[in-house]
Amino acid sequence: MAQGHNYIGGEWVAGARTVRNINPSDTRDVIGEFALADTAQARAAVDAAAAAFPAWSLSGPQQRFEVLDKAGSEILARAPELGDLLAREEGKTLPEAVGEVVRAGQIFKFFAGEALRQRGDLLASVRPGIGVEVTREALGVVSLITPWNFPIAIPAWKIAPALAFGNCVVFKPAELVPGSAWALADILSRSGLPAGAFNLVMGSGAEIGPALVDDPRVAGLSFTGSVATGRRLAAACAARGAKFQLEMGGKNPLIVLDDADLAVAVQCTVLGSFYSTGQRCTASSRLIVTEGIHDRFVQAVVERLKQLKVDDARRPGTDIGPVVDERQLAVDMDYIRIAKAEGATLAFGGEHRATNDQGQPGHYLTPALFTETDNTMRISREEVFGPVANVIRARDYDDALALANDTPFGLSSGLCTTSLKHATHFKRHAQAGMVMVNAPTAGVDYHVPFGGRKGSSAGPREQGSYAAEFYTTVKTAYTAA
Ligand code: ADP
Repeated sequence: MAQGHNYIGGEWVAGARTVRNINPSDTRDVIGEFALADTAQARAAVDAAAAAFPAWSLSGPQQRFEVLDKAGSEILARAPELGDLLAREEGKTLPEAVGEVVRAGQIFKFFAGEALRQRGDLLASVRPGIGVEVTREALGVVSLITPWNFPIAIPAWKIAPALAFGNCVVFKPAELVPGSAWALADILSRSGLPAGAFNLVMGSGAEIGPALVDDPRVAGLSFTGSVATGRRLAAACAARGAKFQLEMGGKNPLIVLDDADLAVAVQCTVLGSFYSTGQRCTASSRLIVTEGIHDRFVQAVVERLKQLKVDDARRPGTDIGPVVDERQLAVDMDYIRIAKAEGATLAFGGEHRATNDQGQPGHYLTPALFTETDNTMRISREEVFGPVANVIRARDYDDALALANDTPFGLSSGLCTTSLKHATHFKRHAQAGMVMVNAPTAGVDYHVPFGGRKGSSAGPREQGSYAAEFYTTVKTAYTAA
């Protein structure tokens, strides 16, 4: 292994340039220097993946099981150490970061099982004397492009199914979080994979993206990131007939009805809107609250927010870590200004602190709660991706549901209620890929599909056994006896 290098064709390769990985809880802390690949290196990674594909796609289920199981075991065994690295480079709290690493390990274990559990159909033909088999085969070389907010779980939920179903991978993590990506590549380099089946190229999306997306040998792109980038990359894939799978933004509603259990509603809000610094595509950013509970709800949320400790991600007792970097902080502060200018009331927080109580320079922001907003304001329509949420008043359940669905996004949608009637109606009528009743909009399982509707997602779902839809292609074989 070579610390911080790219991994191409089974070799560790120094980058054309390097970039410093900075701790957002203390910007004086440099975690390391990491490679930045150039276009030639990105092409070399595609070359290596294409060369490895014929053999790896025909490898047996036992071999793939062993690779994924071994990687999953190492990730789980090293969860405290990898969690510390993740918290240090991304800024989510240590318990959240360790939890994410454990999730990554569980995902590898799940797909180790999926590699063994191959499914197919054996049917009689409609024509006498002919048998029909329907099987799945690997798609080919896949490019996997990931964002910074889940530096190990999102890579895991793309890489593990890709390899389980026999694809060869070129993985490009986000520029801000090379540490976790490199650690994962290091683990995979020792997992028994043949050279070229998995490749890591760290670098700028704008610079090396085209080599990973436009190359005719790349059969599929799985992307998680911003709407603007996702749409552009999808257009490039569509133009040459490549398969794509996109997970992009959200503006997820959490409805709180008069009959909700107030403690449950406050818990769902605080966890869903503000934990992980609100930097989750499933965060509850629109809180849609009916009149009868509105004031009690706002007061109770504000009381909880006052108790939250915004501090160094790795300090024991921290509830909310820093914003990931200066650029995201500027976006958050911009939306706080926009909301105020649009007439929203800042009920709590939204205060930038350049240092924590210990004097460490970092990107600290207290969770911001806006009230007296409506669903037409920019704060209600555009994804902020920070610890910022706004409360919208609703007359009743029907009004709340209409507001919840009135959005260009459709990832996750939540409802707090004790009414079976409303819960049942909501599960059927919420226009979202994931629906949560009395549970935060963020926080999902790894063995079931993940994804959204409308502007949030495109292509087949990720995770669980549904991952096969993207990472395989179906073959129908006829045999005349
Ligand atoms: P964010 O604003 O959250 O950083 P992006 O969509 O810009 O969201 O980034 C998500 C991922 O997409 C990152 O890995 C980034 O490097 C990559 N990316 C950005 N632009 C491109 C591009 N033109 N081609 C390929 N990947 C890109």
